[in-house]
Amino acid sequence: MFDYLIVGAGFAGSVLAERLAAGAGKRVLLVDRRSHIGGNAYDHYDDAGVLVHRYGPHIFHTNSREVFDYLGRFTAWRPYEHRVLASVEGQLLPIPINLDTVNRLYGLSLTSLELEQFFAARAEPVEAVRTSEDVIVSRVGRDLYTKFFRNYTRKQWASTPASSTPR
Ligand SMILES: Cc1cc2nc3c(=O)[nH]c(=O)nc-3n(C[C@H](O)[C@H](O)[C@H](O)COP(=O)(O)OP(=O)(O)OC[C@H]3O[C@@H](n4cnc5c(N)ncnc54)[C@H](O)[C@@H]3O)c2cc1C
Repeated sequence: MFDYLIVGAGFAGSVLAERLAAGAGKRVLLVDRRSHIGGNAYDHYDDAGVLVHRYGPHIFHTNSREVFDYLGRFTAWRPYEHRVLASVEGQLLPIPINLDTVNRLYGLSLTSLELEQFFAARAEPVEAVRTSEDVIVSRVGRDLYTKFFRNYTRKQWASTPASSTPR
């Protein structure tokens, strides 16, 4: 006999079940149509020892002390810093493009206001915007488009900005 039936063992169902069972002493039946707990955040090691995120990559982070303390009862934390870098002309530069990217790529020391002027000076007017390439080139110019946007789009989405329409 159970006090509660919870359908779905993702974050929501799992936490609710734990709180009802351990927190309030209830008998809980937690069911899921999948063969594992964790919902979409589920991960597992394959035969080669590689950690696989079956439903897409997940990184859990929080700035809530309460959440941190609660989850810390069940898992260890590790320091984490998210840095995405593109390899361009022998340098590893931040992407998406920001002030630091432009300054390091061109050896400049622009301020954020000057960065807008820098983009404006390189932007190529496009009569009719038809593709994503048109959008980018008309805002930041062709050099940054070629060095960052074109290959990033090809790698990420297997198509070129020149063949994709802006959204
Ligand atoms: C690709 C991707 C990347 C993400 N990246 C992050 C990230 O980096 N960091 C982060 O914090 N969040 C991330 N999220 C969001 C995170 O996955 C969700 O916020 C979280 O999984 C939601 O938990 P949930 O319990 O509400 O739902 P779910 O995780 O969807 O769990 C619901 C569970 O209910 C089960 N279920 C549903 N209907 C039934 C039924 N009728 N009978 C039985 N079982 C049922 C499902 O099988 C599932 O296991 C990402 C999500 C996706 C899709």
